[in-house]
Parts: sequence; structure tokens; C-alpha cells
Amino acid sequence: MPSLIQFGPKGLYCEKGGFYIDPWQPVNKALITHAHSDHARPGHKNYLCQSDSVALLKHRLSSNIKVQGQCFGKRININGVDVSFHPAGHIIGSAQIRVSDSQEVWVISGDYKLEQDKHIEPFEFMKCDYFVTESTFGLPVFHWKDQEETLQEINSWWHNNSSIKRPSIISAYSLGKAQRVIENVEQSIGPILTHGSVDAINKVLVASGIKLRKTKKLVEATEDEISRALIVCPPGAMDSSWTARIKNHAVAFASGWMNLRGARRRRGVEKGFVLSDHADWPGLNKAIRYTQASKVFVTHGYTDIFTKWLNSQGINAETVKTQYTGETVDNENED
Ligand SMILES: [Zn+2]
Repeated sequence: MPSLIQFGPKGLYCEKGGFYIDPWQPVNKALITHAHSDHARPGHKNYLCQSDSVALLKHRLSSNIKVQGQCFGKRININGVDVSFHPAGHIIGSAQIRVSDSQEVWVISGDYKLEQDKHIEPFEFMKCDYFVTESTFGLPVFHWKDQEETLQEINSWWHNNSSIKRPSIISAYSLGKAQRVIENVEQSIGPILTHGSVDAINKVLVASGIKLRKTKKLVEATEDEISRALIVCPPGAMDSSWTARIKNHAVAFASGWMNLRGARRRRGVEKGFVLSDHADWPGLNKAIRYTQASKVFVTHGYTDIFTKWLNSQGINAETVKTQYTGETVDNENED
């Protein structure tokens, strides 16, 4: 029986090290995989995260929190337990957390994806004894096409709109998808404008030393700029007075859910791009096989189906709860 990490009432707990990973109730020491709100919760006494997440945690939780940053790959010792952070490829600052002692090696992956972006470190394949994986898109139907192809689709949609002076609004979560779209589209097509909430996150990142492309808030742009622009706004601002002010605009949604038939129509948007910050079915399987783990713990998403699948493939897997389900958690990273 593994003993280094337990699945306790407050979350993943390392008793020997005296710390939790992404706990959902206030604890003394919390190691955080990334800054999305279902992983980085308020109320902990001490936070430890990857260096690029420090400013995001302060911005989203409180400027007064006690938070320490750790660069990728550096091993530290906490009460006799080795801990290191490794790229998860999900959003800026997202990490898999490796926890080990002389007996066991654990990797808690948080959220992850295998596609390589221009602006963040690529996912690192890890070997371990015990692997904790998400399964947001853990069904065979979720199969992303090549990312370059999807980016080309976005570019040509934007280019076509821009050439007839039609503003292009693309829906993308403020933390994660927004930066991914901004940093990976073809910059020469036109100006990139942002919603205030995207701009706020970008400013936090830039102030903490992360290089991002120059963008402008929509409210600061001229009519001519708006007509040629790619406008990045969070899903919550779609179909609002904010988008209504932009005349004659085209709308698109960038999400893994666009992979499902009818999803675009249900959202009422003209265009859907399959672009997810999570691993698809082949990606989950590839990452898990690489670990050669003797046991895989499955959380977040299609847990039961995915666990069954892994067991049928001869991989010892079990569904675990790593999220308090008694409250409403916003679905900001659910795509
Ligand atoms: Zn996330």
C-alpha cells in the first residue's frame, strides 16, 4: 500500500512532509499545481507554487497571502520529502508536482495538455510509481486535430473577417486560453484587442516579468482598429452589452467542447474551434503509459469511464475525489 500521499478530507495530503496539494479546505501548507480557482483556493497559511504562478495567486486570492515560488526542475526537501515542479503545459505557471522519498515516487499532474505552445514550457513526460491524472476529456470521442491546423483555421477566419472590416470576437477564458490565443495566432493579420478581465491578467503577468505580445483594451481602440481586430473576451462576456457595442461582429468559440457535435449550435456561435488546454483521449493515454506507474489515480472529469478503460488495458487505476463537490465551482478551466 502506498503511504506517502493520502486522499484525505481536505485533499491530497503528504503527512510525512506536512503539506497538501491543491487542498479545498484551508490548511497550513498548500502546494499548488496552477492558478485556476478549483486548484488554488483561498485561506491557506502558506502557498508553494511554480514561480510564474506567484503573481497570479496574489492577484486572484489576495496580495497578502504568503506564497513562495519554485522554478521548474529544482528539487527541494520538505521534512525529508523531495518535492519538485515540472511543466504541465496547461496554462502559464502550471506544474506537475513530483513528491518522493526513498520508497515511493508520486506525480500529481494537476491539469495538463501535450500540445506545445509558443509561450509556455512543454509538458514533461514523467516516470513514477503513482500518478494522479485528470480526465476532463477522458472519452474516446475527444481527439484534437493538430494544433497548427486549428491555429490556421483561426487565422484564416480572422483574416477573412478583417478583409471585409468585420471585427472577430473569440471567446477564451481570461487565464489560460486567452494568452494561448494571443501568443499563438498570426500577429500580422491585425490588432489584438482584449476585454478588461483578459487585460487585467495580462498586466499581472507582464508586471511579473513574463513577456507577452502587445495588446490593447477594446475601449482604447479606434473604429478602424476594431474593424480589423481579433477581440479576445471571456465566455461570460459573450452575448452581453459588451459585445453588442461592437457592430457587425463575427463570433467564435475556442474550446475542447467544440469537438462535440452540436456544441457550436447550442452555444449559438457561428464558428467553433477545437482548442483545449487539457489533454485529449490519446494525450491522456500517452502521458499515463509513459509514467509506467504501478497505480494511476483518476480525478476531474469522466473518471469512472476512464478508470474502467485503463483497467481494461491492464493498467491498475482507481477513481479518487480531489475536489470538494458540495459547492459550485466555476468552470473556468473546463475547456
Ligand atoms: Zn486548470
